[in-house]
Amino acid sequence: MTHDFAVIGGGIVGLSTALELTRQFPGASTLVLEKECNWATHQSGRNSGVIHSGIYYRPGSLKARFCAEGRRATADFCREHGIPCEMCGKVIVATLEEELPYLAELERRGRANGLQVRVLGPEELREVEPHVRGLRALHVPAAGIVDYRRVAATFARLAEERGAEMRTDAGLRAIRVMPDTLALETTSGAFTTRFLINCAGLYADRVAGLMGARPPVRIVPFRGDYFQLVEERRPLVRNLVYPVPEPQLPFLGVHFTRSIDGRVHAGPNAVLALSREGYGWRDISLADMADTLSYPGFWKFASRFPSVVATELGRSLSRWLFARGLRRLIPEVRARDLVRGGSGVRAQALSPSGEPLDDFLIVSAERSIHVCNAPSPAATAALPIGRAIVDRIPTSFTPGDTTSSRRVREHLT
Ligand SMILES: Cc1cc2nc3c(=O)[nH]c(=O)nc-3n(C[C@H](O)[C@H](O)[C@H](O)COP(=O)(O)OP(=O)(O)OC[C@H]3O[C@@H](n4cnc5c(N)ncnc54)[C@H](O)[C@@H]3O)c2cc1C
Repeated sequence: MTHDFAVIGGGIVGLSTALELTRQFPGASTLVLEKECNWATHQSGRNSGVIHSGIYYRPGSLKARFCAEGRRATADFCREHGIPCEMCGKVIVATLEEELPYLAELERRGRANGLQVRVLGPEELREVEPHVRGLRALHVPAAGIVDYRRVAATFARLAEERGAEMRTDAGLRAIRVMPDTLALETTSGAFTTRFLINCAGLYADRVAGLMGARPPVRIVPFRGDYFQLVEERRPLVRNLVYPVPEPQLPFLGVHFTRSIDGRVHAGPNAVLALSREGYGWRDISLADMADTLSYPGFWKFASRFPSVVATELGRSLSRWLFARGLRRLIPEVRARDLVRGGSGVRAQALSPSGEPLDDFLIVSAERSIHVCNAPSPAATAALPIGRAIVDRIPTSFTPGDTTSSRRVREHLT
């Protein structure tokens, strides 16, 4: 059987795309291939669980647009499907004089992105987060928390109920481009499709390479380690507490987040991962390391931020250094309050000149679409990203059974 669509990757972006395909092309045959034995086992299941407000993103960027849409869509989806989710709000805290201009810039961006933002002095900050100290802060009510593994699993269930064929343990190994179809060789057999959508996250550039496409960026994996506050110290944090991020870096800086299950996490930091899906210092892939270290863009990036690289490395190796970093926000935190809390690896697209790609990047090619950059807030924005991907399928493409698979676009009105 030849499928109309094959989605590569069962993370939250691939699953949202599959769900949208079943909406817009109800009669078409959609296949999802995921190499792991479960959905959302990488970035989508190892993140901070934050529904981002969108305050950080350049007004007019895809991130700003999709984050705003995704925040509302995720909250509505959770309500509709009984997934716990809470819009608890966040604070962004300036602890140094030199951060104040960038805090003011964030306030401006937030308002330009349609957010309600309140400036807090030290006393008002204490009313919102009693243990946090800072010179000035922004309070943003439109931020929340959710378990994205549950959201992704629900996307998968709904896509399957609407007829998509969902395959786990099916890693894509090779693609043969035939005159009208693409022959896919996977770890669980061969499949044929007429159109391919690459949502392979940390491997998106390699999957694009299998089709002969040359993405303009290379994925460099950055691991983020988390600590958790021990149970009796959880009251130190009410909701979400962030520092003012370093403007040129693609990461938000180590922060505190309450999870929907009540735990409080601190992190993630950002260190080079030794393998694309390497969650500890012992997870080493020589091929992945060679890929990163032979890329000039990586060295240009690292040489621009030597002190950040050293600080983040130190924090990854030492609980004491991690706690010292956290004390900038909450002076009461001690190393003994922290236990290891897992880690995630970010797929960060870097240009050959070492620029971290700031915005989402979705590239159309012959009979395929490739999601080349879907970093944070792509979990928040998964629903609009999935819709934008499906909207990009050329109108000239007609799925096999044209009578039953006409494109349905009611959602756009
Ligand atoms: C530490 C961390 C914290 C974050 N915090 C947040 C947050 O709080 N809020 C937020 O909105 N975003 C957050 N993000 C970002 C967000 O999690 C990601 O942007 C999002 O999950 C990306 O989803 P994805 O589906 O593109 O990638 P992934 O979830 O990585 O999915 C890609 C999938 O493709 C599969 N795959 C790869 N190659 C193949 C192949 N050859 N064949 C078959 N399958 C393949 C993989 O196994 C994987 O399941 C965070 C990310 C990290 C790493």
